[in-house]
Amino acid sequence: MSETRIKIAIQKSGRLTEHSTTLLQKCGLIFSQAKNQLIGYGENMPIDLMFVRDDDIPDLIQENLCSLGIVGKNVALEKKIAMDNSKQGCLFSFEENLNFGQCRLTFAYPESSSYRSIYDLEGKTIATSYPNIVKKFLKEKGLNVYVTQFSGAVELAPSLGKAEAICDLVSTGNTLKVHNLIQGEVVLDSVATVLRSTQVLSDSKEAWIKKLIERINGVIQVSESKYIMMHAPKDSLQKITELLPGTEAPTVLPLEGTNTTVAVHVVCKETVFWETLEGLKKIGASSILVVPLEKMLM
Ligand code: ATP
Ligand code: ZN
Repeated sequence: MSETRIKIAIQKSGRLTEHSTTLLQKCGLIFSQAKNQLIGYGENMPIDLMFVRDDDIPDLIQENLCSLGIVGKNVALEKKIAMDNSKQGCLFSFEENLNFGQCRLTFAYPESSSYRSIYDLEGKTIATSYPNIVKKFLKEKGLNVYVTQFSGAVELAPSLGKAEAICDLVSTGNTLKVHNLIQGEVVLDSVATVLRSTQVLSDSKEAWIKKLIERINGVIQVSESKYIMMHAPKDSLQKITELLPGTEAPTVLPLEGTNTTVAVHVVCKETVFWETLEGLKKIGASSILVVPLEKMLM
């Protein structure tokens, strides 16, 4: 019975949790979760959610205990490098980048030191929670730098005398500033991703996974897309599509009482800024409406 259900691993409590559950709910999944239970039972799809620490997500897929997972690229890549070097190889693939969990894995140097680049660190030590990613990066640059693994509070490593520099996750950079660290080279631009098992699954599981991934794709596209309606001079259609990125052929409708102005409707798949609307106005558009979209299936 349980084998016919798909298990998806998501973070139990942290930066990715709310985004991950909301994403799956927007894909139509209704799940119930008893208080303090680490399993969410899918009521309308053969899908169950496993709430775990983010670091365990790639392993659960690697061991085929879960078929899908949502985790930062940083965590997944760190594991992938280890698995690529193992006997069985890596048994998960990166299926889809999501639109949350954005951060960067970057080097950082103490303000009080003379180090400002990885090239200043020959023979020195770097502290990080991502030793595989960092070692691979340094090796590709041909640098001889020691890497020491820290599982938390990496920012403290230089003041504890454990390392000359660090390589850690940053989003705003405030944590670095607080610890008097200066940001250096970026090793990885990370974002939450969907991981999936590369092992052979039953046809019905494959079909559900395909459907879910298509819906995830739709949810992401729709979150950035807008429906734009405006009145515009008939001869400005070309300029309008040039101004609106990611649009397909616009719908053009006649307007009562004029044959020089038309109503134009377009789906714009990228963020629409005020500057874009001002640009539309400049080429003669008026009554411009920007409406959010609810669902999209391409
Ligand atoms: P867990 O208890 O599940 O191990 P954690 O403390 O390792 O949680 P979080 O701090 O919740 O994890 O971060 C989860 C993921 O969010 C990170 O692996 C990263 O992909 C992403 N992320 C986004 N912004 C940041 C940031 N400023 N610092 C750290 N991680 C970030
Ligand atoms: Zn973690």
